[in-house]
Amino acid sequence: MGDRVRSVRLGHYAVPLDQAVSDAKVATGRQRPLTQIDVLTCEIVTDDGLTGLGFSYTTRAGCRAQFAHAKEIAENLLGEDPSDIGRLYDRLLWAGASVGRSGAATQAIAAADTALWDVKARRAGLPLAKLLGAHRDAVRVYNTSGGYLQAPIEEVKERAAASLADGIGGIKIKVGQPDMREDSRRLAAVREHIGADTPLMVDANQQWDRQAALRFGRAVEELGLVWIEEPLDAYDAEGHAQLAAALDTPIATGEMLTGVPDLVRLIDLRAVGFLQPDVPRVGGITPYLKVAALADHAHLQVTPHFVMEIHVHLAAAYPRDSWVEHIEWLSPLFEERLRIDGGRMLVPDRPGLGLTLSERRHEWLVDDVAFGTAE
Ligand SMILES: [Mg+2]
Repeated sequence: MGDRVRSVRLGHYAVPLDQAVSDAKVATGRQRPLTQIDVLTCEIVTDDGLTGLGFSYTTRAGCRAQFAHAKEIAENLLGEDPSDIGRLYDRLLWAGASVGRSGAATQAIAAADTALWDVKARRAGLPLAKLLGAHRDAVRVYNTSGGYLQAPIEEVKERAAASLADGIGGIKIKVGQPDMREDSRRLAAVREHIGADTPLMVDANQQWDRQAALRFGRAVEELGLVWIEEPLDAYDAEGHAQLAAALDTPIATGEMLTGVPDLVRLIDLRAVGFLQPDVPRVGGITPYLKVAALADHAHLQVTPHFVMEIHVHLAAAYPRDSWVEHIEWLSPLFEERLRIDGGRMLVPDRPGLGLTLSERRHEWLVDDVAFGTAE
């Protein structure tokens, strides 16, 4: 009765970006341009011969900590029934309880948790979205990767047009430069280029104080933006709530928060119209589902951050029709490509997440370790 986890393999891969990108945190000197994404993978094999793949990620720093933590706790999965995801999540959490329930500790667990959900969906022969209870087979999709601040406005316009021609349904550009007038110029140029009817979002990556955010928000009300993202420090829940009450344009945030209670605070304070949790960052699919249930109860939209490969399933299983974020940076790590049509990303019809690691990944291997016997 019950299957058993036979082996667990962890990998750390440094996946290079085609082009270094900069958001407002770079424009104001807080961070260096982003050149690669570091990914922690977890591959599980069971006695029944099923496999599961999960992953977590970091930008700039932290993946070595995630890998080290995952390496310390992974053996707790061996010999356990992979269907008991709730029990195994707690087991992994308590194994490393002294380093807490958020941040790198739970991001390390996220890779294993996602792999366990992948096993469960593959066992059922269902895409993860259908295992969770899908509301739709395709999710609205917007592009972010073409709208970074290092790109001249002509390039941003060209890439926006190319995204729309590829079937993507909305465009997001970065703002939050030291000179707010430059943000306004770029925003107006993109709005004119893509037309008044194309959904358009902006993302300030936490660069404004409360007064500056209110000034910007009032100045752009007539542009009909879908949302203004991260106008304030990620942890200023009260500030986001005040801004949301003062503006007609909805507020979006949540991507930087690494624990369930931080996201629940945004829900409780009605600080956002669009909540943006991130499965790897918040500790896996299991905690993400808690957040999503509470967000739905509060009548909020949930538009998950990055990681479209996992989030297309979760957005399809969320009651309200929302958006996934098109950023193609992780694509080289996988064999499969997500399909986009008519402004929507299609949920893969393959079992589980529908992902397998690419052969190319070996070029980017930083570290790996295996537990148990793979044969
Ligand atoms: Mg963002």
